Order: sequence, then structure tokens, then C-alpha cells
Amino acid sequence: MSQFIAVEKVNYPFPAKPKVLSADVQQHYVAEIKRLLVEKNAKLIAHYYTDPEIQALAEATGGCISDSLEMARFGRDCDAETLIVAGVKFMGETAKILSPEKTVLMPTLDATCSLDIGCPADKFAEFCDAHPDHTVVVYANTSAAVKARADWVVTSSIALEIVEHLDSLGEKIIWAPDRHLGAYIAKQTGADMLMWQGECIVHDEFSAQALLTMKHLHPDAAILVHPESPASVVAMADAVGSTTQLIKAAQTLPHEKFIVATDRGIFYKMQQAAPGKMLLEAPTAGNGATCKSCAHCPWMAMNGLQAIYQALTDTSGHEILVDESLRQRALVPLDRMLDFSAKLKMQVMGKV
Ligand code: SF4
Repeated sequence: MSQFIAVEKVNYPFPAKPKVLSADVQQHYVAEIKRLLVEKNAKLIAHYYTDPEIQALAEATGGCISDSLEMARFGRDCDAETLIVAGVKFMGETAKILSPEKTVLMPTLDATCSLDIGCPADKFAEFCDAHPDHTVVVYANTSAAVKARADWVVTSSIALEIVEHLDSLGEKIIWAPDRHLGAYIAKQTGADMLMWQGECIVHDEFSAQALLTMKHLHPDAAILVHPESPASVVAMADAVGSTTQLIKAAQTLPHEKFIVATDRGIFYKMQQAAPGKMLLEAPTAGNGATCKSCAHCPWMAMNGLQAIYQALTDTSGHEILVDESLRQRALVPLDRMLDFSAKLKMQVMGKV
């Protein structure tokens, strides 16, 4: 049985859209960034939702393009001295928590996430304290302080398996902060989950009604949905999963056409994985006039080439620092997830 708690509605401080660079200026920054990455023994780690030129640069320089779980693993395991994380702030913090000996830079420290903003550490701690018999599971899209209060951290690529595992042990769960992902997992697992009511402003905007109209226009298309989307959208999906799982679905499903309900930044790698297949953006409920209705995260869009160059030339205002005692507390639930994931991988490979 799942329960929901009410939280205040949050007003999000949407950033201004970044300046569009000319092709010449882009080329200049690309060349300079390549030089600086070598000079500083640095790796660029980019999320699937960043703009195509950032992902292409990560790819061309031996960095990483992935979901937040793989970004964390790559940052921890690579031998670079400096990590430059193109994503949103919690991703930089996660990299620092796992790799305290490395310098972790971000193009901008102002790139945040509506899930992180919607789950303040003090209120969340009060909520956990009021339910001491619950195991606290938080999504990776949270601050270091919220992670430090958790028993487990999960990403969307492993949340289902971890909640299933906890449910099999008879544990009652506090889930935070994404209400749609939480509801999806509760439905799949039947776990007893007490939910925080956060939302991703990108996925929350996908509209089942508009999707139905689009499906009528493209009856041969399969619908791919990230579970941060509303339940009515998830219910229409041919495949539901994390960014990596959706890319895999586009590759393996027999369809030639896909309607994709997640941030359109994913198209860069999805198109590479499924060349020749047609990818269509799922419609949002808004009228297209705001960042809330464009299927592209306004904070991910802040990761421009100019900002990466600035971070590599002058680290002040770009470096992620996490208080050491907080880091050690946040490391425990993160390590738990990474260990669980490693064991799961071994099981799938038949090695245990
Ligand atoms: S796409 Fe949604 S979940 Fe991802 S960083 Fe942006 S607001 Fe957060």
C-alpha cells in the first residue's frame, strides 16, 4: 500500500536560455577544450540530456556520455585527475562524493533540478524522523545532504530492482522525491511506499491526450516512456525505462518509428544506436512558449561549450566541494547502490 504526503508547490527559478554560438566560435571552443582536457588530465562526463555538441565532444575525447549511474561509475573508475561534469549539480556532487581525490568541475554550478529543489534537506529529515520504521530510498536527483539522510540511493536504471529487494525483506519504504517514478515502482513491485511529492518539470509535462492524438497520426510507432512521466503517459508505453534502457529499446524493438517521452537530448545517442529509425518527440501539455513545455531540461541546456572552456581555464566558481563529514555519510547509500548494481550485473552474466 502506497501513501502520498503533501508538500508546498515550488516556484522554479528557470535560467535564461544560453547564447547560440556561430559555427566558427563553436569550433574554436572545441579545439581549446580538447587541448585543455589533455593538458589537465581531465575527462568530460556528459549526461544524455546535454546538447549534441557536448555529447559529441565527450565522445571524441574519451570521456563518457551516459545516465547518472554510469556517469558516477565512470568518474570513480577513470584515472583522470579532473572530472568535468556536464549535467546538473547533483551529478557533480555525486562525482565528488565518490572521488574525493579528484577535482570535480561543472560548466555552471547554477544548473539544478526541480527534483533537487523540491526536496529540501531539513524538511526531508523531519519527514524521515517522523517515520523511523521506514527504510529511506532517495533518487540520485537529490542534494548531498538528502543522500546523507538516506539508507539507499537509486537511479531510474536500478530503482525497480532495489525496491523489489527491500520489499522482499518486508521493509516499508520512504521514497523521494519523484512522485511519478515512485508510483510506477510501487505499482510494479507492490511495495509499501510513503511518497514525497516531487516532480521533474520536463517529464511531468508529457500529455497522454496529446500523445493519443500523435499515436493516431503514427499508428506504426512504438512509444518509449521514462517513468518520471505521469502514469497516464506510462500506461500508453511499449517500453518504460531509464535513458539507457530506452536507447536499448529503440535498438532492439522491431519498430522503425518511435515516439519518445523523455528529454530530447537523448536523440543524439538513440539515433546512433538505432540508425535509420525515425524518432519523434512526444508532445507536452504546454503551448511551447516556456521551458516547461519544450521537452528539454532548461538546466541541462546551461552546459554550453563556452562554460566548459571557462571552467577549465579558471576553476573558481566551477568547482564542486562537499563537506567531508557530509560526503562520508552520503557515500554509504551510494556505495550500497553501486555494490548492489555490480552484484546484479554478475548475476545476469551468470557469475554468481
Ligand atoms: S530533466 Fe528533470 S530530472 Fe533531469 S535534471 Fe532536468 S529537471 Fe531534473
